[in-house]
Amino acid sequence: MSRRKQIYEGKAKILYEGPEPGTLVQYFKDDATAFNAQKKATLDGKGVLNNRISEFVMIRLGEIGIPTHFIKRLNMREQLIKKVEIIPLEVICRNVAAGTMSKRLGIEEGEKLPRSIVEFCLKRDDLGDPLIAEEHIHAFGWATHAELDEMIAMTLRINDYLQGMFSGIGINLIDFKIEFGRLSTETGDHQVVLADEISPDSCRLWDRETNKKLDKDRFRRDLGDVTEAYTEVATRLGILQSNPPQGKPTLSVVSNDE
Ligand code: 5GP
Repeated sequence: MSRRKQIYEGKAKILYEGPEPGTLVQYFKDDATAFNAQKKATLDGKGVLNNRISEFVMIRLGEIGIPTHFIKRLNMREQLIKKVEIIPLEVICRNVAAGTMSKRLGIEEGEKLPRSIVEFCLKRDDLGDPLIAEEHIHAFGWATHAELDEMIAMTLRINDYLQGMFSGIGINLIDFKIEFGRLSTETGDHQVVLADEISPDSCRLWDRETNKKLDKDRFRRDLGDVTEAYTEVATRLGILQSNPPQGKPTLSVVSNDE
């Protein structure tokens, strides 16, 4: 791995040059950060779980026609992805009030929103990813009108699909954050594709019966059992096999990891 060229290191992932032009290898770290990296920890196995969960979600979304950067999973911690130019926006979609929306608008966590709401933050760690309006995006040229329309339409389709997918395994999708990139096409145009990851690091997932948090809020709020919660999500999605004798899920499975 050390011989590969590192392109970028983020808080939870590293990007390496890929084997073919136009590809990258996305490596999922065990590192967890919150509150603009003021809180940090290493959570054994988180990277493996997020690699598997994000692979699962990206494949399902690809099947319903959402273009993504995902090509294939390479091993326990890495996936091959298409190289894109990341659009510097975090697109957040909310179904139930929680987190910064609850704080900002004084709405109690858990209150169902009148409809799904899409918000935008500027991807700027040094500014704490501030909430912005569509006006800012247009005025500063962070995305074109057409790109923004596509991102909003894709986000709402992703939300519909993921709400159903998680509902089928007894989980309420409270909110999530996604990122998009520009993929250069052979004709010299750009296609907007879903990039980054979709995992319990970037979604709020609450058990439908108990409202137990099965996501990164367990880390942010010191609730404990973070990887256990991620394992629960992966197990319910059918990514991990249960080990009947001990009744404990195991990370070793489902296909041919290198
Ligand atoms: P909030 O704005 O309430 O903190 O977050 C809304 C949703 O977006 C949550 O599901 C949260 O996990 C996700 N989110 C917001 N900012 C980030 C971020 O910088 N990184 C990740 N991984 N997720 C984020």
